[in-house]
Amino acid sequence: MLRFRGSAIKKGLVRGASTVKNTEFDPKSLHIADNSTIYSAIQPTGKFHLGNYLGAVRVWRDLCEVAPANSTVIYGVADLHAMTIPKSADELRKFRYEAIASILSTGIDHDKAIVYHQSGVPQHAELNWILSCVSGIGYLGRMTQWKSKSKGSDSASLGLFAYPVLQAADILLFKSTQVPVGDDQSQHLELCRHIAEQFNKKFENTFPLPTTILAPTKKILSLKDPSKKMSKSDPDQASTIYITEEPDAIAKKIKKAVTDSISDHFSYDPINRPGVSNMINIISGVQRKPIEQVEQDIANLKDHKAFKDYVTEVIVEEFKPTREEYNRLIQDPQYLHSIVQKGNRRAQEIAEKTMKEVRKNSGLD
Ligand code: AMP
Repeated sequence: MLRFRGSAIKKGLVRGASTVKNTEFDPKSLHIADNSTIYSAIQPTGKFHLGNYLGAVRVWRDLCEVAPANSTVIYGVADLHAMTIPKSADELRKFRYEAIASILSTGIDHDKAIVYHQSGVPQHAELNWILSCVSGIGYLGRMTQWKSKSKGSDSASLGLFAYPVLQAADILLFKSTQVPVGDDQSQHLELCRHIAEQFNKKFENTFPLPTTILAPTKKILSLKDPSKKMSKSDPDQASTIYITEEPDAIAKKIKKAVTDSISDHFSYDPINRPGVSNMINIISGVQRKPIEQVEQDIANLKDHKAFKDYVTEVIVEEFKPTREEYNRLIQDPQYLHSIVQKGNRRAQEIAEKTMKEVRKNSGLD
């Protein structure tokens, strides 16, 4: 476990290493130190899509494989966060288990990683409150996700405004040292380090400052409007490919995807050719190859049909085992429940250890 003394934090010695952009596609290039704690979580807002997979969950699987045996790996289903986007109780209940099935179906080993439901570990909410009291509303108000999701509306919820503090509590509850996330979460991780510093300064040095690990794949964009990111909540569902999707449905969505009128070659040029570039980025991510190499591989493709057939084949192949495993797991709610119970117990043990220290250091015990 990384531990930093107050003076090291004040001098900013740990700042330089606060974000690691993993530019190599080979997971073995990620060096994870002994006794690290890797933490990440995903909201259960429906099945996972290609962006969640390349930007987050596949990196989770890679990290499980490269993390030393003495490290702790924790992956949460952030069901408390999911409540910031209104949904019915039945929907949330269903999504919580779909998310567990999705995580397991991508090949994450639940013995190596603790896979759990955030709401099953009440210490998250307790630490959230304590950290709220050392978090400034000015800093929270500058979060770009808050600005884009609230759209300046007075009726935006307090939960939506404050959820980055809960996110900080999620990470710090386990004294996490590395947090793999997509690019869009970097700002929240910066805030998390700031909140940890505030707590450490105000009370005793309690939390290590976690490093962000960014996925090697660039953000995956909407198939229908490549000026936006691919998202579960996109009203046009033809813009999003899910990891459990049938080959025919994938083929249909790629066929309808926005490209351009240049058809004699397919090159990576995000400004002038955003649709084509997004698909090249998808191939690069799935095949773990640099963009230039993908450009060479597709140099012989003669027209849009050949290009789109190729993209379809790459995605269908990648998700074949995931889809089959997901379909098997989702039929077995008892098994999924047992995995969650096991994960919740393991997570609670670590969380309670941290909270004993937090309560003592902050005067609550
Ligand atoms: P969310 O679906 O917003 O809960 O995101 C879960 C994780 O997936 C986060 O680490 C995001 O950064 C990542 N993610 C979500 N959408 C995309 C996307 N379109 N491209 C790359 N990563 C993404």
